[in-house]
Amino acid sequence: MKKQAVFFDRDGTLMEEVHYCNDPAKVVAAPDAAASLGRLHAAGWLNIIITNQSGLASGKILPSQYEAVEAELGRQLGGHVDATYFCPDPSHSPTHRRKPGIGMIEEAARDHGIDLPQSWMVGDKGIDIACGRAAGCRTILVLTGYGEKFRDCGADFVVRDAAEAAGLILAGAAPCNRPGPAGKPREQR
Ligand SMILES: [Mg+2]
Repeated sequence: MKKQAVFFDRDGTLMEEVHYCNDPAKVVAAPDAAASLGRLHAAGWLNIIITNQSGLASGKILPSQYEAVEAELGRQLGGHVDATYFCPDPSHSPTHRRKPGIGMIEEAARDHGIDLPQSWMVGDKGIDIACGRAAGCRTILVLTGYGEKFRDCGADFVVRDAAEAAGLILAGAAPCNRPGPAGKPREQR
C-alpha cells in the first residue's frame, strides 16, 4: 500500500528563518515542531523536508555547513524527519527540481512509495504552495517565516505555524481547492 507523507518546507516553516543559514548554532526549530512531527509519525505519516538551498550554488553555504545545519535541525526535531531533499540550484534559473518545480517531490514519491493526492505540502512561501499543488498534494501555508506575504497564494488552508498544520492534518482535514466566499483561501485559526 502506498504511504501518505507530509512534505515540509524547511526555512521559515520547520525552523526559524535565517538568511542562508550556514551555522548549526543558528538553528531554532519551530515551536512544538518536534512533538508535532512525532504525532504525525505515530499516526503513520512520513515527514519529508523539501528545501531550496541556492546558497550552495552561490557559495554562501558550504556543503559541510549545509550538512551540519540539516543534522542539527534533525536533532531538534527529535529524529522525526524521514528524509530531506534539497535543491542547490541557483535562484535565478528555474529548474524542475527547484521549487516551485516538483522534481524533489517526485523523487521522494518514487523513493518512498508515496500517494501524492493523499499527501500534504506545508510551507511559508507561494512557491511551496505552487509546488505542492502542481504535485497533486493538498497544501497548507504557515504564517511563520515569510508566510504573511503569501496569504493569498491559493493554499487550501492558512494556519499559524507547523504545529497547527500538523494538528489540521491529524484532524483529517478535507482539501479545499476553491477560494472561500470572500475570495480568500479558507482559514483555520
Ligand atoms: Mg521557507
